[in-house]
Amino acid sequence: MSQYDLNGLVTHTEPRASGMIQQLQQQGITHPELLALMGNIPRQDFVEPAFSHLAYSATPLPIGRNQTISQPLTVARMTEWLLRYARLGRVLEIGTGSGYQTCILAHFFNKVHTIERQQSLYSQARQRLAGMGIKNVEYLFADGQAGWPHKIEMDAVIITAMASKIPLALTNCLKDKGILIMPIDHPTPQIGCWRKEGDRWKCLGSEAASFVPLLEGMEHA
Ligand code: SAH
Repeated sequence: MSQYDLNGLVTHTEPRASGMIQQLQQQGITHPELLALMGNIPRQDFVEPAFSHLAYSATPLPIGRNQTISQPLTVARMTEWLLRYARLGRVLEIGTGSGYQTCILAHFFNKVHTIERQQSLYSQARQRLAGMGIKNVEYLFADGQAGWPHKIEMDAVIITAMASKIPLALTNCLKDKGILIMPIDHPTPQIGCWRKEGDRWKCLGSEAASFVPLLEGMEHA
């Protein structure tokens, strides 16, 4: 758990946050602690300054380096699936980006492992979350397709960039009954949630969503 003071209450220091929360509720997001958390995280601090006036809008926004933060509904839906289906022990996130999703994961999971291939995004997210007092996150600057470098079994894996094929390293590190959340692009772009059941995958939900592509290798600076 982070030191970030949430206490299950939306304090609405940012007035636009209440509109975002209302909209999320209308779209079927019901988890009170998640809604409160999203209402309290200063989303404008995670997007490019030129877009901060749109920070609470229902749209993906630039975070630098041609990457985007997902729109609030997508973040909320992915997190609600995790809260409903996953054991909240260890989670691996591929695509730290701005660190917004990481910040939410850190609130609910005991430990978050997050990987980003773009060096400046990795450094900024790390600094931003440290500044918020979040301590249960391990950050890695690497190509996330190779998975976490040490063999650690994960309760959940969440991939926040679109791949045509899921790297084996990311499914192999999942415990049996672990939860996988990843975007898929056919027949239309969407995000899906699966449970690993032996060598089978049970689909637990999916929803339309757009994502930037999962890329190869690392990008310095
Ligand atoms: N969850 C993020 C949104 C991330 S956008 C947020 O809340 O802001 C997707 C991110 O995945 C981008 O930052 C991109 O650089 C990163 N990414 C793409 N391919 C990757 C890879 N192979 N390994 C690690 N990160 C990757």
